[in-house]
Amino acid sequence: MAFSLNKSATAFKEAKQYIPGGVNSPVRSFRGVGGTPPFIAKASGSRVYDIDGNEYIDYVGSWGPMILGHAHPEVTAELREAIERGTSYGAPTLIETELARLITEVVPSIELVRFVNSGTEATMSVLRLARAYTKRNKIVKFAGCYHGHHDSLLVKAGSGATTLGVPDSPGVPEAIASNTLTVDYNDAEGLSHLFAKQGEEIAAVIIEPVPGNMGLVLPKPGYLEKVRAITEHYGALLIFDEVMSGFRVAFGGAQEVYNISPDLTCLGKVIGGGLPVGAYGGRKDIMELIAPAGPVYQAGTLSGNPLAMTAGLATLRLLAHTDGFYEKITANTSALCAGMRAKAKECGFNFRFHQAGSLFGLFFNEQAVYDYNSAKRSDVTAFNIYFHAMLEQGIYFAPSQFEAAFMSGAHTQEDIEATIAASGNAFKKVAEYYAKR
Ligand SMILES: *Cc1c(COP(=O)(O)O)cnc(C)c1O
Repeated sequence: MAFSLNKSATAFKEAKQYIPGGVNSPVRSFRGVGGTPPFIAKASGSRVYDIDGNEYIDYVGSWGPMILGHAHPEVTAELREAIERGTSYGAPTLIETELARLITEVVPSIELVRFVNSGTEATMSVLRLARAYTKRNKIVKFAGCYHGHHDSLLVKAGSGATTLGVPDSPGVPEAIASNTLTVDYNDAEGLSHLFAKQGEEIAAVIIEPVPGNMGLVLPKPGYLEKVRAITEHYGALLIFDEVMSGFRVAFGGAQEVYNISPDLTCLGKVIGGGLPVGAYGGRKDIMELIAPAGPVYQAGTLSGNPLAMTAGLATLRLLAHTDGFYEKITANTSALCAGMRAKAKECGFNFRFHQAGSLFGLFFNEQAVYDYNSAKRSDVTAFNIYFHAMLEQGIYFAPSQFEAAFMSGAHTQEDIEATIAASGNAFKKVAEYYAKR
């Protein structure tokens, strides 16, 4: 049967009548790659299934959370039991403490942790805290790093914004954006110069230690150490946004891999096991400023929701108790990247593959990619050809050159081999495009 998205196309048209652009988060719309987004009917293990009856090997994993694969039987069973006990109480539960304790054990820089409902909420709240603690207003972020969609951080924000070609959003007051200073990722000297000029005004530096929202970019050796040293020198707080990298690039996140202790950390995605969760935490003396322990207000009707905590705890426990989980998933990711790279080479391409644990990315770019500007020099047209060729062969990657890909524990050897084989066909299509140009 020929690949078709007819039902999805009809569904998309109808969705647009009621939802802006037909989606509840912009990149889902396929605006960057063109065509119709498959409307998903269900998912299981490494697979997602659309309403047209197509089956895909999924490397989006709900943009990161589904590290165990979709509908993991143990997570699902725990959720089923939890739902019978009621879905929300707005009162404290034992499971919140359990998840908080587990997080503090795995991520030693986190002494206290507050749960919220999304990564955006975590980074938004953590900035208020950093400003209150330091009594300073300015925040430093890095071009191409994404920290959610609230005003202070929607400046040079990578992926969604890059894909849609809107670097900043209308509606963000200049007064707010002017407190956000931006420097290039991997440029320690640039950060150093900025601090030399305005260091006394800077409350915090927020960084994706392993940026995954301009495609996957890796820190140069020694770079994160320098960021840590500069912030410490000027009394600014260092915030690691590990919403994507946490429990993903390693169990203890990027801070474990690079052995850096940030003052504060934001989490999300994996810690919610596919339900809406975010969290921020860190040094006790800072976190104790949060209400009701301290004066910095932050609240949430559904924060610490029992279903979300259940899915998160079940997920983290499985990650902790599955022998060699991270070794295996990392090895599988390496094997996939090596296989895909070989297929690219057969077509004469020396494209850039990056990997951090089970997080990986491919830039249609033969030059080094180390920051936002070098990432943007990738060939988006070639990516789009590759992307659609993969989709038609039943391989589901994120619909943008500027998004990372996610391996799950449910992906099998056969999945990986099928993906490599499909890549070979897709790179041939890219080669045809280059030949014609
Ligand atoms: C996804 C992401 C966010 C935003 O999280 P949401 O749950 O989508 O609000 C923030 N920071 C990073 C690094 C992310 O990858």
